[in-house]
Amino acid sequence: MTLRDDEKLIRVALEVASAAPAGDVPVGAVVFAADGTELARAANSREATGDPTAHAEILALRAAARVHGDGWRLEGATLAVTLEPCTMCAGASVLARVERIVFGAWEPKTGAVGSLWDVVRDRRLTHRPQVRGGVLADECAGVLEEFFRTHRTPDATS
Ligand SMILES: [Zn+2]
Repeated sequence: MTLRDDEKLIRVALEVASAAPAGDVPVGAVVFAADGTELARAANSREATGDPTAHAEILALRAAARVHGDGWRLEGATLAVTLEPCTMCAGASVLARVERIVFGAWEPKTGAVGSLWDVVRDRRLTHRPQVRGGVLADECAGVLEEFFRTHRTPDATS
């Protein structure tokens, strides 16, 4: 995958982020099959659903597994998300056997794919997704900055 291809994936995730429920931090995630087919997309819906686990990645992984046709395994799939995944979502990606994780903005406070932790590339794991972070990072961060300018809620990031 070239950087240009990954930018296309993040562009789709940005579209999804912009459709997040009002009041929810606009993070978008999309799961693509090995052949590039989109399997599922979801926006962060934690506030809308009152569910602490309703991060974009979790919702997208669950939906993708339902359509992928190989039980819960998402082998060969790519998870594209506008913000660096947290520990929960990084862990879920490993458990789902996702092949690659591509993300936009870095999240130095809670990021678990290279920033604060590197959950997915822990050498003790037998399955380690490949990672490309910082794809269209400024654009992805801009969406979040815009949101937080108008919603001053502490501790509301992914
Ligand atoms: Zn998360």
